[in-house]
Amino acid sequence: MIFETHAHYDDEAFDDDRDTLLSSMQANGIGLIVNVGASLKSTTASIRLAEKYPFVYAAAGVHPNETAELNEDSFAWLREQCLHKKVVAVGEIGLDYYWDEPSHEIQKLWFARQLELAREVQKPVIIHSRDAAKDTFDMMTAHNAGEIGGVIHCFSYSAEMAQEYVKMGFYIGVGGVVTFKNGKKLKEVVEVIPMERILLETDSPYLSPEPNRGKRNSSLNIPYIAQKIAEIKGMSYDEVVSVTEENARRMYHI
Ligand SMILES: [Zn+2]
Repeated sequence: MIFETHAHYDDEAFDDDRDTLLSSMQANGIGLIVNVGASLKSTTASIRLAEKYPFVYAAAGVHPNETAELNEDSFAWLREQCLHKKVVAVGEIGLDYYWDEPSHEIQKLWFARQLELAREVQKPVIIHSRDAAKDTFDMMTAHNAGEIGGVIHCFSYSAEMAQEYVKMGFYIGVGGVVTFKNGKKLKEVVEVIPMERILLETDSPYLSPEPNRGKRNSSLNIPYIAQKIAEIKGMSYDEVVSVTEENARRMYHI
């Protein structure tokens, strides 16, 4: 079965057909889904979905661009959510310098706090990092993130950087970009890292793979991603699906 490691079904893009769509997943070979929080509100919504569907799990965390909403009170609330039995990771957390708000200092402060929260609750982290390669790597090294474990989701950096994260013990999340004509960098990443470190993800509703690029994404598109990885790695499609499922189960402890 396919393990979808990163989706946002709480997004308003799914308001019209969320239940129909989620109910169709298992019949289409999508066996497990982790719905990832990106704010306090979407953490709540992710947990609701995980409570409703046995095959959906949740991650609790605040995305770097949403960290202005964090303070000691909301952080204490977030900590409580992390203890929920269907919360399997802290995320998505990290640094995003594509946008200048909130300031890099605020992003770093709450990235550090959420990394330490993950250590405390003993759950892996889902890292979002965009245009912030050096600061992300430096902070993760400083916090011994290798002891915490997790995934660099929607990996957008170089093959060398990917190898550094693999050395740290991290997984690399590979999504629709690997099918894009201009996705050369990610194809190189897939080529050089071991299969045992790759996770399948969509980041739905964003980043639909070819041939559905530009449309709303859903986990039903994962076969296009798995097929492309199979081509790059010279493996069968079924092997990619089963190895990535094992990887995700190992990382999320499911
Ligand atoms: Zn995401």
